[in-house]
Amino acid sequence: MNAAIEWLSSQRPAMQAAVATLVDIDSNSHDKAGTDRVAQAMLGWLHAADIDAEHRADPSEGDALLARLPGAQRDAAPVLLMGHRDTVFPSGTVAQRPWRVEGDRAYGPGVSDMKSGLVLQCFVLMALRRLPPLPFPVLGLFTADEEIGSQRGRVAIETHARGARAAFNAEPGRVSGNLVVERKGGATFAIDVAGRAAHAGVNHADGASAIETLARKVQALHALTDYASGITSNVGLISGGLSSNTVAPSARAQLDVRFCSLAQREALFERIRAIVDAPGVARTTATLDAGVSTVTVPDVGFSRPAP
Ligand SMILES: [Zn+2]
Repeated sequence: MNAAIEWLSSQRPAMQAAVATLVDIDSNSHDKAGTDRVAQAMLGWLHAADIDAEHRADPSEGDALLARLPGAQRDAAPVLLMGHRDTVFPSGTVAQRPWRVEGDRAYGPGVSDMKSGLVLQCFVLMALRRLPPLPFPVLGLFTADEEIGSQRGRVAIETHARGARAAFNAEPGRVSGNLVVERKGGATFAIDVAGRAAHAGVNHADGASAIETLARKVQALHALTDYASGITSNVGLISGGLSSNTVAPSARAQLDVRFCSLAQREALFERIRAIVDAPGVARTTATLDAGVSTVTVPDVGFSRPAP
């Protein structure tokens, strides 16, 4: 291990140059050419270090750059080194604010999240490649759609992470220096309520207010929040109604929930369905939009002090 650390400590200029190279490539999640160019740059470094690596670029199978160091024991469960090549920054950001260094800080789109992490993982692989094989294989796995929920990349992640003895994701830590050791799950839902329009003055009694039904449900949904167990439930968007003098015939809410375990997820989804199905104002009906109900969203992590 000392040999690896010694070599790494001599690589600071090379690592900084590598981060600069990656930061100066626009690679928004929707910029396929950009995330491909990031993969090409990383492949160049890995191949130059005689590391077995390939870019499986087809997004339908979960675009992934894969690298592999064999272990002394062929069938031993691997250690996984992970990262994502995409950023949230729109194409063109590099032209506006390219890589620059001021004092001991570097700036540029994705410099923290997570191009420096990609470089870190590549150099860890390169350092390990210089040593006799570890007992177990080490896999590098670098996806291209993390910032938009890993809808495709999760296929590759699930394939390669299953059975791994450990997985290290080189996302940035916290400002405090803390390491993020686990992440919450999340989901978004839309709730649509249909009611009955009526004139608020002329025939109010004929109406059925979708807004009132939705308002009751919002209170029930917010009551699902339980800080002690890490569950939050937030209706962050509402819309509905026609005018102030019309009983509202429709209303819509968008809900974001976060949870810590799959068991919590199932129980939470069940309670959300029950709230949406519960009777509201007579002659109104509420539906849960299943189209967005299973979308997972990136989330804040729990953090622990770095050892
Ligand atoms: Zn990230």
